[in-house]
Amino acid sequence: MLKRLEIAGFKSFAKKTTLDFANATTAIVGPNGSGKSNVAEAFRFALGEQSMKSMRGKRAEDLIWSGSASSPRANRAAVAIVFDNAPKGPLRGQRQFKVDFDEVSIERAVFRDGSSEYSINGSRVRLRDIDELLAGANIGETGHHIISQGEADRILLSNPHERRQMLEDALGLAVYEFKKAESEKKLVKTEENINQVQGLRRELSPHLRFLEKQVEKLERADEMRSELARVCQTYFAIEDRYLASEKKSVARDIVAAGERTARVTAELNQIEEGATTDAEGGKRLAEVRKWESEVERFGNERSALARELGRVEGGLAAAKRRSAEVAREPYAKVPREDLAALRDEVERQVERASTPDAIAAALKSIANAVRAFMERFAAPADDVLAEEEKAAYALEREKTELSEKEAKLAKDHEHAKSALARAREALTAHDETGKEMRRRILGLAEEKAKAEGEQVRLESHGRELDLLAAELGGGKAEALAIAGTSAVSYAPLEMVPVEERKAQEDRKKSIERLKIRLEEAGGTGEDIRTEYKDVSEREAFLARELDDLGKSAAGLRSLIDDLDTELAKHFSEGLAKVNAAFGEFFALMFGGGGARLTLEAPERDDFEDGEEPGDEVKEPERPGIEISVTIPKKRVQSLMQLSGGERALTSIALIFAMSQVNPPPFLILDETDAALDEANSRRYGDMIENLARKSQLIVITHNRETMGRASVLYGVTMGGDGISKLLSVKFDEAVAVAK
Ligand code: ATP
Repeated sequence: MLKRLEIAGFKSFAKKTTLDFANATTAIVGPNGSGKSNVAEAFRFALGEQSMKSMRGKRAEDLIWSGSASSPRANRAAVAIVFDNAPKGPLRGQRQFKVDFDEVSIERAVFRDGSSEYSINGSRVRLRDIDELLAGANIGETGHHIISQGEADRILLSNPHERRQMLEDALGLAVYEFKKAESEKKLVKTEENINQVQGLRRELSPHLRFLEKQVEKLERADEMRSELARVCQTYFAIEDRYLASEKKSVARDIVAAGERTARVTAELNQIEEGATTDAEGGKRLAEVRKWESEVERFGNERSALARELGRVEGGLAAAKRRSAEVAREPYAKVPREDLAALRDEVERQVERASTPDAIAAALKSIANAVRAFMERFAAPADDVLAEEEKAAYALEREKTELSEKEAKLAKDHEHAKSALARAREALTAHDETGKEMRRRILGLAEEKAKAEGEQVRLESHGRELDLLAAELGGGKAEALAIAGTSAVSYAPLEMVPVEERKAQEDRKKSIERLKIRLEEAGGTGEDIRTEYKDVSEREAFLARELDDLGKSAAGLRSLIDDLDTELAKHFSEGLAKVNAAFGEFFALMFGGGGARLTLEAPERDDFEDGEEPGDEVKEPERPGIEISVTIPKKRVQSLMQLSGGERALTSIALIFAMSQVNPPPFLILDETDAALDEANSRRYGDMIENLARKSQLIVITHNRETMGRASVLYGVTMGGDGISKLLSVKFDEAVAVAK
């Protein structure tokens, strides 16, 4: 409920002026030009009116006291409307404004630079906040509750769309519109976000697909790696067992052969010594002993040489294996950034190539770049290769030297052996004991040579086994590096399984094949996997985000739909009620006839003056409001054909009908009754009394009849200083002042 209006520096109210309002009707009276309409405009101003025209001004300055001879101009115009906001209703729980104060003061000030300040109960707020607060209290912004002087028929003159807005406002539907606009704004924002997220996902997807493929390749490599580990486990376990048992049997056989040699030698010595007693025999025996020791010496030297040769051959095999590896993967040590640079260069060339000529040129420069790259990175690998080959070459030379030495030693050995045989023959020939003895000695010598040969063969086989063991160690180290610890984690075997040796060779071949394929597949790709994880997490995040946004957009759309439904329902109900009251009031004022509001036919293709076809597109689904009237005994086709008085009566009927259906908290009527004759003035007065039961009325009037219906009367006067002054007056005084 309106409590009071405080005006300071606004238009002709130079000094601070306060109007207290009573429960029912307040009339403001006074001579022409005294400042009565300025009071109505003060209301409009404080409620946030943005149109200067509806406050009869051009600039903000026009609203500020402009000064007179006796009083300087003001720099600021301020108006405050104070409402009673104490809880009302059956349970005293209903406040008019949705703020927790018993009194609400809405204030606006304007300055000469045109800026406005708004406040609620002394706290600065935005215009928006004022609008929202007013809409919640059924005080709309189209100003249907303030009827300015000469503007009573504004609703008749305005276009169907504006009329609809006034009607919605009067029906208190502004709150729905407010909420709807808010939701629509949110929806637009949400849809922008959806587009943005979709854009991000689109940008991400080729990269994600690329990474997916890379990771698939890495997974295939993982499978190969575990396959390699599996084969390695079997191969190494069998090979370990095989080498160990071979070694053991070789060692055993060497011992046996050594024993045989020793046994045969001892027997031989015994026979030879027993057989020879004379001097000549002694000499020949000494000759035999000499060649025996020569044969043994050469044999030992050859064994040492063979061991040395074995070492050199082992080294040579290892060096050859290494250089084969280097040759197999010459680019293994190319730094990542150089690869990236090459890629960038190729991409740059490809991007530029749009015409056939440019493509040819680009291909040429790509070829150059690749060649330069190869030269740069093939070289270091060649260096490594050369180094390995140099080492192999040195070992090869050493091997040749040792082989030559061995050949010479073998010759000397053979020579000593045949010298020994000859010495033995000479010894046995000298011996008289006969042929039997000679045959025995020859047999033993042959047996000894055989045993020694066997020993040499076994020793060489032992060395071969050592070489194989060393090679196996190398193989394990390599498998460990490529396939991880599982390749060398296996339980030792009790015995060599029963299978062909070829099975192991096949395993070895498949190990080599897998190694080559793994080397071609590249490293473990940890960075690719990390990136894939990051990118797919981001993608999942965006998908969730999109889902959430989609849900909130759907929520907003259904909220908007609900609001539309609510609006449509309240609107059509309200329209029916207003129509009923409009018809009734109209008939009352005109003593018959009828009037009604109708919804404009949809799909209009003629346009009101000043309207552009484009304007219509914005709200095509909301038909405007038309007014049709029938006046008793007249044939009226259009509103324009009505007389001034008839127009005033029609608009009064409509304004009162709207006010009755949804009573506004207050209603200001500025000389709405100016054109009425005596009979209509009385009816007008009756209607005012009727309306005053539900709304507070403030009437600015010269009409005696109207003044008579007011319970509080204010007189406005203006002296020679141009300042409006306010005073409480009695009915008789009011009648006098009004003249
Ligand atoms: P009527 O009965 O003829 O309609 P009224 O009482 O409604 O008259 P208003 O139109 O409210 O009178 O008052 C107009 C007066 O206010 C004029 O005298 C005008 O000079 C004065 N006025 C308007 N703006 C200013 C201003 N910025 N500074 C000083 N005076 C102003």
